[in-house]
Amino acid sequence: MSPDRRRRIGILGGTFDPPHVGHLALARSARDAMQLDEVRLTPTGHSWQKSEAGASAQQRLDMVRLALRDVSPSEGLTVDDREVVRGGQTYTIDTLAALRNELGPDVMLVLIVGSDQLRNLATWRHWQGLFDLAHVAATQRELVALDDLPPEVEAEVARRGRDALPDLPAGSIVFFRMPAVAVSATGLRAQLAAGERPDALSPPAVLDYIQSHRLYRRSPRN
Ligand code: ATP
Repeated sequence: MSPDRRRRIGILGGTFDPPHVGHLALARSARDAMQLDEVRLTPTGHSWQKSEAGASAQQRLDMVRLALRDVSPSEGLTVDDREVVRGGQTYTIDTLAALRNELGPDVMLVLIVGSDQLRNLATWRHWQGLFDLAHVAATQRELVALDDLPPEVEAEVARRGRDALPDLPAGSIVFFRMPAVAVSATGLRAQLAAGERPDALSPPAVLDYIQSHRLYRRSPRN
């Protein structure tokens, strides 16, 4: 990295309930598309937008760590535990503000989202303030279109959309491509509840943890 190149940090937030190969593919695609120096997988503490998660915040954090266990550090994928450690409601704006505070004004922060999250963006707390702190980089997620966005989000894309990330710390929206990876945590939980072990969909260490902690099982009444 040239000494005067601005450091580029990606933030991939999610419930990771559980983490799966779609999350890893998203992190790697974003890193490669935007030459990010690091992508921080950041599990939510308590997500205000998702109803009670299947695993506890600590268990989701443990699983994200395990998902990266066999990933070489040279890949630049890391875990950021601040939302779980902070506890309580999780808002992305607070996480970005804390990161900006910690890393300084010059670092480029890039919030990575799939199309489902981009569609939702205008429902996030202080969502327009996100752009003072970070860029937003979005990609198409299987079956969730990137066009026909809600009008408020579309207006922000018209204002801030760029073909490539400008060399600035924050403020733009960019789109990048990734190969479709047909997996969601919801689908994975359903398979696990049915007693399957979907080896292709999540790293072995995560599936072992799920098994040993008896996560996502159907309750005896079902
Ligand atoms: P759930 O099914 O419980 O809603 P999820 O699979 O969407 O979970 P999250 O932890 O909510 O997983 O997702 C975190 C981020 O990863 C989001 O920005 C989401 O769009 C993205 N993402 C999840 N799965 C994929 C996938 N298969 N391909 C691309 N992006 C994905």
